[in-house]
Amino acid sequence: MNRFLDFIRRHDRFAIVSHLDPDGDAVGSGLGLAWILRAAGKKADFLSYGIPRTYQWVPGVEEVKSDPDLLEAPPDGVFVVDATSPSRLGKMEKLLTPDLPVANIDHHPDNTRFGEVAWVDPSAAAAALMIWEMARELELPVGHDAATCLYVGLVTDTGRFTYSNTDARSIAAAADLIEGGADPHQIAGRVYENNSVEGLRLLGLVLSTLDLRDDGQVASLHVTRAMLEETGAMPEDADGFSTYARSIEGVKVGLFFRESEDGTIKVSFRSNQGVHIDGVAGRLGGGGHPSASGARVPGPMEAAKESVLRAVSEHLRSLAA
Ligand code: AMP
Repeated sequence: MNRFLDFIRRHDRFAIVSHLDPDGDAVGSGLGLAWILRAAGKKADFLSYGIPRTYQWVPGVEEVKSDPDLLEAPPDGVFVVDATSPSRLGKMEKLLTPDLPVANIDHHPDNTRFGEVAWVDPSAAAAALMIWEMARELELPVGHDAATCLYVGLVTDTGRFTYSNTDARSIAAAADLIEGGADPHQIAGRVYENNSVEGLRLLGLVLSTLDLRDDGQVASLHVTRAMLEETGAMPEDADGFSTYARSIEGVKVGLFFRESEDGTIKVSFRSNQGVHIDGVAGRLGGGGHPSASGARVPGPMEAAKESVLRAVSEHLRSLAA
């Protein structure tokens, strides 16, 4: 923690970046940290190439910079939050020039420990939780905007406090953030009860793709570009769909395949019953958490599905052997 304090003291203008295809924890931890650094008298900007519609209301979102060239002045320090490695930053990786010191705060077990200072805690339910703990430890003030952002990261990465990463530590942090001004009902309404009509129509199509394999232990769903066009939905409308396959009784591994604009397929792996799926995602070039991982594999959809389903099936057989 002292190294983080020193990192903050030694620099004045921070750029904050997170992983590409940002989720609630990427946005919430990035913007939450920006508020905390600003309250400590620093200049801080969160950069992201696009914020999903669900998070367009999060405090400070209107000031997010979509390109490093839009910064008022070059940063003298960078915080990377919730990202396993610089390559997970997508096009923002260009920000990490060799002369720019980097602080890395993440909860992915496969984090490469890059940066001048790195704090990696796979037992933390969210990067937002780590930022909250860092602020508390360093006695940095956390105002109600920061608390709201961090709560968004925490509630989304724990699946509304239901995933296996939900623990006393995350619930205690949530209570503190609520005391600090986060409104759980309002946030839940904005994140979970703000679906677009197109998004719900897309969900209808996606659910009809359900495919069960391995005696009902593996369930998969997919979304194609054609389905997006048919419903008028945005790709990010499918962000919450990855949990449906896992939600079926008896399913150990739920998979969600999305066809990207460039024809590659993004795969979300979700597992149940203590099955660790990050190794399979890792072998396919991705990574993540033991029960929630991702990878990007070559298309087309059917070929991608068959090869991933084969890898998952082999993994389950190896566990049973
Ligand atoms: P997702 O399925 O996109 O919600 O991602 C689940 C988890 O896996 C998150 O913690 C991601 O950061 C991680 N993840 C997703 N895609 C990749 C990838 N291509 N490489 C490494 N980690 C990934």
